[in-house]
Order: sequence, then structure tokens, then C-alpha cells
Amino acid sequence: MAAERLRAPRGTFDVLPPDSGRRRWLQALCAEVLERAGFSYVETPVLESTELFARGVGASTDIVRKEMFTFSDKAGRSLTLRPENTAGICRAYIEHGMHKWPQPVRLWYWGPFFRHEAPQAGRYRQFTQVGAETLGSDDPAIDAEAILLLAEILERAGVERLRLRIASLGSPETRQAYAEELRSYLRGREAELAPEVRERLDVNPLRAFDSDHAGTRAVMAAAPRLLDRLAADDVEHFRAVLGLLDAAGLEYEVDTTLVRGLDYYTRTVFEFESAALGAQRGVGGGGRYDRLVAELGGPDTPACGWAAGVERILLAGANGPAKAGPDVVVATATGARDAVARALRLARELRAAGLAAELAEPGRALRRQLRRADRVGARAVAIVGDDLQLKMLDSGAQTPVAGPAEVVRALASGGEGADPGVTA
Ligand code: AMP
Repeated sequence: MAAERLRAPRGTFDVLPPDSGRRRWLQALCAEVLERAGFSYVETPVLESTELFARGVGASTDIVRKEMFTFSDKAGRSLTLRPENTAGICRAYIEHGMHKWPQPVRLWYWGPFFRHEAPQAGRYRQFTQVGAETLGSDDPAIDAEAILLLAEILERAGVERLRLRIASLGSPETRQAYAEELRSYLRGREAELAPEVRERLDVNPLRAFDSDHAGTRAVMAAAPRLLDRLAADDVEHFRAVLGLLDAAGLEYEVDTTLVRGLDYYTRTVFEFESAALGAQRGVGGGGRYDRLVAELGGPDTPACGWAAGVERILLAGANGPAKAGPDVVVATATGARDAVARALRLARELRAAGLAAELAEPGRALRRQLRRADRVGARAVAIVGDDLQLKMLDSGAQTPVAGPAEVVRALASGGEGADPGVTA
């Protein structure tokens, strides 16, 4: 029987060139934007104890109820592949006593996350998030800064037709009183609601705002709004955040129906969408989570952050620069051992001098090595034979050179009298 073809698991994918190059470019862009703003890069484990997410993300959320990849290790401990990173960052903040560091602590991350969802365009079971978290300050400027940094990344990454929605969820107490009010409103119109909304009325009536069901949407359009029920200090915080976004010239829409799929948020929540994407149009979002660190057993630590989907940013139009070919391909005129050793040494010397130097496959005919140099878009080929020759690929001119220093000089001057700075 023929062996079944091995494939990447459902909802996962390989990242191959040239896409991998765009991804590295985006990562460098994120690093630049965030590190200039004082964020330090962190890595936390891809595996965490299941309890962290049950307590941190919220037992009633879709993520915890349906979407986690959970298994037991050999000692019977329940582990979960992280579905998001805010809980993990808070765990690390507590575990390493970061409350003793100068506050606020600003951290950023980039890495794989896992959710057992039905795969479709822009929705995967393993995906990549870039995120930023600021812990230890409740100042509205922190919320505004977080939003502006994500906006900057998305804009510089070329994400088109962006829209920012923002709201405030207030405090858990306000939210609870509001949930009661909403629940009794929804009970009054229960017959019009989708079955899954009805089922979850007791657990979390706020989720009814997320429903696509026409009847439910009509009911929700007339539902009481949390924004109208916020406590005075939460309203003040929200106004301050909006004022700072106004001052920075960032456009937003206050959306009273914005409900994020995670339970830990307090006060500000926001989401960026791109109309350049299909059904899965959320590119990134976040908000404030002032109680999460304390809930996970740490000191009272207000905090705010966001996560954005790397695959969606790339889908929504980020192109990045085209990959440049190597400066020089080092070829060998013969397969003689001595020539190969000299070619290898030359390539290393050229790299040490700062050039991108790629070794052609030495055992091949020179003609094929030259063809490969053309294909990869090299500027020149250094041919190691009895002597050393440099062939410029734009002009085709070939001249003998004394050694690596002369190759470096020829390429630095644009070679063969070509205009420096003008690339083919
Ligand atoms: P969330 O942690 O749910 O707020 O998600 C933050 C961002 O991560 C979203 O806006 C998406 O861009 C991305 N994202 C979330 N889930 C997935 C998924 N299953 N596949 C791809 N991207 C995702």
C-alpha cells in the first residue's frame, strides 16, 4: 500500500521564500517602531499550564471553552499551547518580580499562537502575533501610545483601508450590573434571538453583540449600551484617551458594541480592521486589563496592550522591499579541490568585508554557475580558476582582479564606471 502523503497539519502552513522575506521585513519594522518607543523584546514559553488561560483569559470565553490545544504531559499536568500572550506576559511579570523594575514595564513579543478554529482565509490553527504590553501605569496616555504605535506599524506596513473602533468596558462591577440589565432586556425578547445566544444568556449576554444572526442583530440595535452606564472615573479616562488620539490626528469610531473575545479587559478596548481583508478583517486589537495581574496572584498592576495578526497584516497589503540578489556569486572555473578551497575562502573574506557573497555549486560546469548567478540577481560573479576574474553581470565586462579587496572596491564603485547608487 502506498504511504499516505505527509502534509502540514490542518490549519497550519509553511512559510517559504519569498513570503518568508516579507515576514522578516515586517518583524524588523515592528522591532524598530517598538524598541524606539522603549519596548523590550521578550519570549515566553509556547506551552503554559492550562490553568493560566482558564484563570487569565476567562472560563466563559470561546477561546477557553472551544479553541485550546490542551494535553497532559507524562506527569499528568495539563498543558496548553498558548492561544494568546497577555496571560503569559502577566505570569512572567509576577514570576520575575517585574513590579520592582522601573514602572511602567514595556514589553513586546512576536511568535506562534494556537487556536483550534475552523480554518479559512486569514484564520489558522497556528498563527503569528506581534504584541506590545505596558504594565504598571493606569495613565490614559499609555492607552493612546499603545494605539498610536499599532497604527504606525500598520500604516508603515502598508495595510490598506484601515478602520479603528474603540470603546470602554468600564470596571467589572459596572459591567456586571450592566450584564444584569442587558440579560433582562434580552429575556424580554428571547424568542427573537439565535439559539446559541439564548443558550449563553446566563454565561455572558454581552456576546450577543457579536452575533451575525439577523433577529439577534435587530434586538441588539435597541439594547441598552454599556457606554451609557460607565462610572464617572471610567468616563473621564475614556475621554482622556480619545482626546489624546484627537490631538495626534488619528481617526477612530467609538463603537458601543465592541466586545472583545477575552474576559480580562477593563476600560479601553480597541480593534483595527482592514476592509482589504475578507470575513476575517480584524488585524489587531487590545485594551486595558487593570485587574489581570492581581487576579493571577500578583500585586495590583494596571496594564494595557495589544496583539496583531502577522498573517493578516501581510495579507492586507504589506509588500516590503523586493529581495535583493547577492552582491557577488563566487564560482569556480574547475572542480579542482584547490580552486574550491580558494573559492570558499574568498566568499568568507568578501562577507567579512560586508558584501553578500553566495557560493555557486563548485562541482558544476562554469556555464551553469553563471546562469545561477543571473537567476538569483547577483551583481557580479567572481570566478576562481588559475587566476581570479570578476564578471559584472549588468555590462558583461570581465577583468582579472588581484584579490578580495579589489572585488570590494569594484562593487563599491558600482563597477565598470556605472553610476554609484544606480542599481540595475
Ligand atoms: P485576539 O487575541 O483574538 O484579539 O487576536 C488579535 C489578532 O490576532 C486578530 O486581530 C487577528 O489579526 C489575529 N488572529 C487571531 N486569531 C487568529 C487566527 N486563528 N488566525 C490568524 N490570525 C488570528
